[in-house]
Amino acid sequence: MPGHVVPRAASGGTVLPAPRQAPDAAPPIHEDTWAAAVRLVRQARAVHLVCHVCPDGDALGSALAAALALRSLGIEAHVSFGDDPQVVPTSLTFLPGQDLLVPAAAVPDRPDLVVVCDVASEDRLGLLRDKALAARALLVIDHHSSNNGFGDCRLIDPTAPATAMLVDELLRRLGAPLTRDVATCLYTGVATDTGSFKNAATTPESHQLAARLLGTGLRPDQISRQLWDTSSFGCLKVLASALQRAELDLTAAGGRGLVWTVVPRADRAAHQVPMDQIEGFIDVVRRTAEAEVALVLKENDDGSYYGSSRGRGAVNLGTVCSGLGGGGHAYAAGFTSHQDAATTVRRFRALLEAACADTPAGASPPAPSAPPPSPAPSDHQTPPHDTLPAATDGVPTDA
Ligand code: MN
Repeated sequence: MPGHVVPRAASGGTVLPAPRQAPDAAPPIHEDTWAAAVRLVRQARAVHLVCHVCPDGDALGSALAAALALRSLGIEAHVSFGDDPQVVPTSLTFLPGQDLLVPAAAVPDRPDLVVVCDVASEDRLGLLRDKALAARALLVIDHHSSNNGFGDCRLIDPTAPATAMLVDELLRRLGAPLTRDVATCLYTGVATDTGSFKNAATTPESHQLAARLLGTGLRPDQISRQLWDTSSFGCLKVLASALQRAELDLTAAGGRGLVWTVVPRADRAAHQVPMDQIEGFIDVVRRTAEAEVALVLKENDDGSYYGSSRGRGAVNLGTVCSGLGGGGHAYAAGFTSHQDAATTVRRFRALLEAACADTPAGASPPAPSAPPPSPAPSDHQTPPHDTLPAATDGVPTDA
């Protein structure tokens, strides 16, 4: 039964983490809300699915899955996001349904129904913010604990490992068939936000959904390779430079350690590497055993920096990054900085110290149980991956 502490093995004494939600807790989304969402979709003449700017696998995968499924039900559906130009990250170009993408300018000024996926606040809608807010109806599907409450109908569950899981539930209630293409998009969302089923957002439910999706015959090996194991040679060279200049500060984060590095735009230019291809660098830097927190500052083409941070749970990085105008999850967060790299690191470090003041080193990190740690996406919400909210970018989970 989900939620119970289960002995891992008779021989061991190790037990699984406590359930994220007590078995008797009320479901985060009320039945009436699900019914209202189903009604909105069924009554819509046309549906525009919108994900956050600089979309990650969960945002774009969720929107494409929904659009493909709605089309199979005979409902007109398109996908868009508010970047200009609207560029799909290279690692996501394999997703089915790309022909359903339309530029932000092609979305009507007053759409019938807008469904936003994986968006914590209006600011993350970029160029589509005003059009979404002007829609006849705005349905919000999201799992960020930082979601600010916008929208007319809200399918929000901060305990969900990915927005894709909520989209799956909505499609199930709509009676949409689960095709391999839809499953590929949903799997990409769940795999992305659970860090390939490795991070703290991974739950029994994420694995149960994965099992159902694999049942359609999709190829997890091929999806994983597209998402994480395909880099240009130039990208590896840029990574090598970033690792070369990485610094380890053992006194930071209340003595827990901070490892950080910078990726200058000149390095990317020398090897023709776009920003979206260096999002995974944080996942290499954060392997540092001596550091509780990892930070990668990625210089944008305009000279500003995207900061992507990852932690192991002792410090809430969403709080730290909101101090820099960004945000995200406890384990993964991001921000955008318009100051130089040295100043930005200094500010990040100071915020880290402040956040650590309440939790002296040596104290146990919060158990990954209820309330569930916010999903730790990869780094997707910030501009590309960390969750970045407002003002800046949506950093991918890693910010
Ligand atoms: Mn997500």
